[in-house]
Order: sequence, then structure tokens, then C-alpha cells
Amino acid sequence: MLGYGEALKLVLERAVPLAPRRVPLMEALGLAAAEDILAREPVPPFTNSAMDGFALRAADAGPGRLPVAGTVPAGMAEVPALGPGEALRIMTGAPVPAGADVILPLEHVRVEGDWVILPEAPRRGANIRLQGEDIPAGGRVVPAGAVLRPAEVGVLAAIGCPEVPVRPRPRVAVITTGNELVDAGDRPGPGQIRDANIHSLCAQVLAAGGVPLPRPRVEDRRETVARALLGALGEADVVLTNGGISVGDFDYIKAVLEDNGAERVFWKVAQKPGSPLGLWVLGGKLIFGIPGNPVAAMLMFEEYVRPAVRRMMGYRNLHRPARAGVLEEGWTRSGDARRTEFLRVVAGPGGRVALAGPQGSGILSGMMRANALAVIPEGPMALEAGAEVLLHLLDEAEDH
Ligand code: AMP
Ligand code: MG
Repeated sequence: MLGYGEALKLVLERAVPLAPRRVPLMEALGLAAAEDILAREPVPPFTNSAMDGFALRAADAGPGRLPVAGTVPAGMAEVPALGPGEALRIMTGAPVPAGADVILPLEHVRVEGDWVILPEAPRRGANIRLQGEDIPAGGRVVPAGAVLRPAEVGVLAAIGCPEVPVRPRPRVAVITTGNELVDAGDRPGPGQIRDANIHSLCAQVLAAGGVPLPRPRVEDRRETVARALLGALGEADVVLTNGGISVGDFDYIKAVLEDNGAERVFWKVAQKPGSPLGLWVLGGKLIFGIPGNPVAAMLMFEEYVRPAVRRMMGYRNLHRPARAGVLEEGWTRSGDARRTEFLRVVAGPGGRVALAGPQGSGILSGMMRANALAVIPEGPMALEAGAEVLLHLLDEAEDH
């Protein structure tokens, strides 16, 4: 059976960055630039005052007084030139008048009628912001692949880039399956449970940067499953089916996909939970078959779908921080040792790791307590307290 590392590699081979698109700057936050973005103009576009105060010639400054010849507000288009032996009142952001080479802040002078009384001689160039000192014209401000944070968005506005070439957010359809499921707002009848996974999975899509498309839930009937899948493929870049992917009598996802010509990349991974995980490709779109157990569903999203979504968005860092931790309590494997196991754990200070409660794949509340997954490779049947484990830190941003 395929191992965890091999399966992840296959996922990342198939998840390729989406075609670039130009989006309005207001929608660009969190997206990766699809190409290098150059500044066509310098920032600031003209030399201007950094303070409210007085513009003068440094040669005229020094203890003494100068007549105030006028006022230069911010936004003034035709700024008067500064004559020798004069000062001009000037506001922050206003163009520096020709002839002036220093701005004295208002707080450093005294004003008496039409005269400004100067203290000590200021340094030439003080409080003047030079054209292009922030960003020179022609420079690369954002390299291709960089993620646009609020600062990048602001800089792009400053250089006159109201639309940005980016990798778009993947639209991810989520289809839950199961005759036993009812909506979160419904009271389950005998044998029924609420559909938790439509919510956890759509929330994970959103948290990963994708656009969740929750689809109507599907009962375990071949025709209904087929219709739902083909409908979702028409609207999404990625389809997540949930449940019905194992070997139960009513697990139709796999058969329906393959009857409709989907290419199987893999089905079944030597891991726990989540062994029935599958990946198919149809019409260039990825279809993940995710098992229905609520913990398995979330873990499979976290370990496989989230990196795929990020790669489609053009992100370079696909994976959560991986650190070593030390188990505070012993752990014994149940079942096949040729599997990777993902334990829900709480990673505390000093790398100490405690289990986040019972580890059954239906114990969804354990996912609330856990801040990390301990990834136990195939092999050991048990780990003793003090054993070192590899952690994937769930609450921290991707770093590699
Ligand atoms: P399945 O993968 O369809 O065999 O489902 C495995 C287990 O997960 C069963 O106990 C299901 O009732 C449960 N399950 C499947 N889908 C969901 C869902 N959307 N929300 C909550 N539990 C689910
Ligand atoms: Mg089911």
C-alpha cells in the first residue's frame, strides 16, 4: 500500500498553480503575485515635507529671524519658489519649494506676526522626503510568488497598481454523503447524526485560503452520487467527497468516479486514521475522496488538501512547521504497524507532548483540544514516555 510520504508527493504533483488572473487590489490580500511587479513611478512621486513647519535655505538658517513669504499646503500644484532670506510656511506632504533645502518643524521655531524666529542652525536636508526615496522607479517591488500582505497591498496602491496579477483562490466543492446524516439545525431521528463534516471541511477550505462551495448532501445511492459529482466538477477547481469511500456496501464514490472516466492517482494509504483516502483526476480537476469519520476527514484535509490548495494558490510554503517533541506518556499502537499514525496531541512548553484525549477517529472534540499532530512512522508497536516524536503544528503558519 502507498505510504503517507508517497501519497503526499502524488498530491503535490497533481495540484498545480491555477492560471493567473488580475484581481482588484481590494481583493488581493492573501494571494500570491503571479509575476514580478515593478514600480513604474517613484514613491514618493515628488520631494515633499515630512513635517508641518517652515521651508528655508540652510544657508539662511541659524539663530535669527526670517520673513514668512507665504504658505504651501499639501496638494498644492503650483508651489512658489523660495527667495533668498525668506521662509515659507509648509505642511506635511506639501511639495518642497524650489530653493528650499531644509524644513524646520513648527515645534522648533517661534512665530511672531509675519516673522519666524529660528533657533540653532538645522542640518541641510532635514525633514525633507526625497522623490523616490521609498521606492525608486523601475525597481521590483513584489517578486513573483510573494504573498500579498497588507503592506504589499499598500505599496501596490502607492505605485499605481489598482489590479494585481495573482493566482486565484481555488473553488473547492464539498459533498458529504450518508443516509444517516441530517443538518446541524435538525433533530436527528433514530440512527441519525448531524452532518458535522460539511461544516468542518468548508471551514478548513476557507482557512486554507480557498473558496468553499458546500454542495447539497448526497444519500448513498449510485445515481445521486454520480449526479452530485458531475455537478460539482462543473463549478469547482477541486472536489472533496466525504464518506462512502471505503469498502462498505453503500460506498459508491470510487465506482462512480471510475465509471465516469476519472483517473485514479491513488486509493488507500497506509495510515491511521484516513486509510481509504483517494485521489482522482477528471477533466484536469482534482477529486479527493475523504473518509467520513470526522477526525479522519479533518486530518486528511490538513495533511493533503491544505498543501494542495496552497500550491494551487502559488504559495511556496506548503507545510506547517515540523518540530520534535517528547511524549509525556506512553502510547501503544493498535493494529498494523506498517502504517503512519497521526495522533492528536497538545504540544506544550519545552516540547512536552500530551495526547489530546482518546484517539478514536470519531472523537471530533479531540481536534479542538489538539494544537499539533504527532506523526508516528510505520514500525514501532509502542512508544515509551520520553520518546521523541515529530510534530506538525496545527495552529502555526506554514514555514516550508
Ligand atoms: P463513511 O466514511 O461514510 O463510512 O463514514 C464513516 C463514519 O463517519 C460513520 O460513522 C459516519 O456516520 C460518519 N460520518 C460520515 N460522514 C459524516 C459527516 N458528514 N458528519 C459526521 N459524521 C459523518
Ligand atoms: Mg457513509
